[in-house]
Amino acid sequence: MKEQLQLLMRLQDIDVQVDQHETILEQLPKELQEMARNLVSLRHEISETEESLLAAETELQKKESELSVEQEKIKRSERRLLSIKNLKEHEALSREIRLGKKVAGEIEEEVLELMNRLEQFKKSLDRKTADYGDCEKKMVERKAESEKILFDAAKALESLKVEQQNLAENVRKEYFKRYTMVRKLRGNAIAEMVNGSCDGCHIAIPPQLGLRILRQQEFIYCPNCHRILYVKPENIPLPNGAQ
Ligand SMILES: [Zn+2]
Repeated sequence: MKEQLQLLMRLQDIDVQVDQHETILEQLPKELQEMARNLVSLRHEISETEESLLAAETELQKKESELSVEQEKIKRSERRLLSIKNLKEHEALSREIRLGKKVAGEIEEEVLELMNRLEQFKKSLDRKTADYGDCEKKMVERKAESEKILFDAAKALESLKVEQQNLAENVRKEYFKRYTMVRKLRGNAIAEMVNGSCDGCHIAIPPQLGLRILRQQEFIYCPNCHRILYVKPENIPLPNGAQ
């Protein structure tokens, strides 16, 4: 019995390691894929910002030339105004000049607004470009180290599987079946009894059952979580109260 329990404990130890390596083999490629996806979307954002920047620059040039046309018109009108003697004509042209100045003022507002936007696009572009560089660097590094990690995990897994197989063959079928079932449900199938409680589910073990666990002559299962219970040798009291 004791030997069977030890085999199962060794098996549990191996199973935990197998799980860890399998998780690495499964997760690491996903992590790299996620990094690559992130890079693609950053690249996409950068092109979008570049397009917006270009559009804003074009718009700014357009507005600036509109503004200079308008200002030129105003100057011409102001020169013409000096030579007009007719009061009605003078008033009409003055009105035209005021209107022109109002339009020019509006265009100036738009120019300022565009300059602000341009500034923001440039900042955002700088930030995204820097982000892209960082992410790319991280991915290259992670990719390089992942090759070794994946290789090591696969190699470790290979020998662990052999040991797992050996142990499984040496454990009695009924125990193995139970072990596998509980492990599937609970993640681990063997739990230590600590201070009279199951360390797996933390429920108190009835004292009679506790005594049977201490005797180590049979497999005892936790009445609550059904894990196989054991005690560490150092926690087993010596007979006759000897120290
Ligand atoms: Zn339990």
